[in-house]
Amino acid sequence: MSVSRWLVALVPFLVSLPATGAPHFADRLYVIQCGEGHASDQSRWSPGINVGKPLDISDNCYLIRHDGDWLLWDTGIADAVAERPEGIKNEAAGIVWKRKEKLKDSLGHIGLRPSDIRYVAISHSHPDHIGNVELFPDATLLVQSAEYSWPQPDGKPRFLPEHPAMQLDGDFDVFGDGSVVILSTPGHTPGHQSLLVQLHVAGAIVLSGDAAHFLDNWTSRRVPSINVDEAETLVSMEKIARSLERHHGQLWINHDKPQSDSQRHAPEFYE
Ligand SMILES: [Zn+2]
Repeated sequence: MSVSRWLVALVPFLVSLPATGAPHFADRLYVIQCGEGHASDQSRWSPGINVGKPLDISDNCYLIRHDGDWLLWDTGIADAVAERPEGIKNEAAGIVWKRKEKLKDSLGHIGLRPSDIRYVAISHSHPDHIGNVELFPDATLLVQSAEYSWPQPDGKPRFLPEHPAMQLDGDFDVFGDGSVVILSTPGHTPGHQSLLVQLHVAGAIVLSGDAAHFLDNWTSRRVPSINVDEAETLVSMEKIARSLERHHGQLWINHDKPQSDSQRHAPEFYE
């Protein structure tokens, strides 16, 4: 083959290769209100601080579109709560949970059915995050193996064995291009994880689950007494901080109501 014919054959490959280190992006990120909580005592999350002070918290789900695939991050408090205007009380946590709208309906406003969701990834297995996992019986669950195998206090599994699941051991690049990356951030629970999302306009965002519950706890590196491992929580916070530095990113804290109130909510989105 002549040199020119070699070049012709090579050009399609050369132009399809990304430049080294060029960022890839998810297309859209939606913030969906997936519950609201009223707690009677903030100090559950901040030992010795704000004792007896009531607190309103947000409970968000986040929906990400990437090349026509949909990933849902966290599923919020169970949709059944939306049928109870007075809410339900979690006695152990001292929180009353309410839900304005079912997740199914929130997805409907975006033009989606639950069967359109390919991946459901959860930050951890507390009820305000996994309440609607079974609305998506065919979606692949992305969960750390340490969380998957962590039994409930009564010994039962946290997830239905028949639900398709990918059990992870550490960080995981969901679409293989660096745009949506699960970060292993244990401490709040054994297999807690966070999500780095790279967007073209909004930039890098880390959805930190319950690695910190509020901005104040984040800046003070305060660890709730309910966390399974205090030292691991602090290591995970530093890991998130390093990721934010590296990507010049923003930290989005699921339960921080003032921050959530300042954000665009579905059906509006970030891109
Ligand atoms: Zn939570």
